[in-house]
Amino acid sequence: MCGGEKEAGHTTFSVDLGDGLVVVRHVPATVCNQCVEEWIDNKTAQQLETIVEEARQKKHQLEVLSL
Ligand SMILES: [Zn+2]
Repeated sequence: MCGGEKEAGHTTFSVDLGDGLVVVRHVPATVCNQCVEEWIDNKTAQQLETIVEEARQKKHQLEVLSL
């Protein structure tokens, strides 16, 4: 902890699957106003997992989505 305030905000989540890159924009997250730390809650993490799994099956080189 850097001592900064946590604020509700949004982040961009990206994962490199090897075959392709998945980018999910506008992911709700708690962000620190002092540093780059971000926290994603369990429900959102599960949504991201589903999105990544679907993108993996499509085998696109680049998949850009928005939550
Ligand atoms: Zn911080």
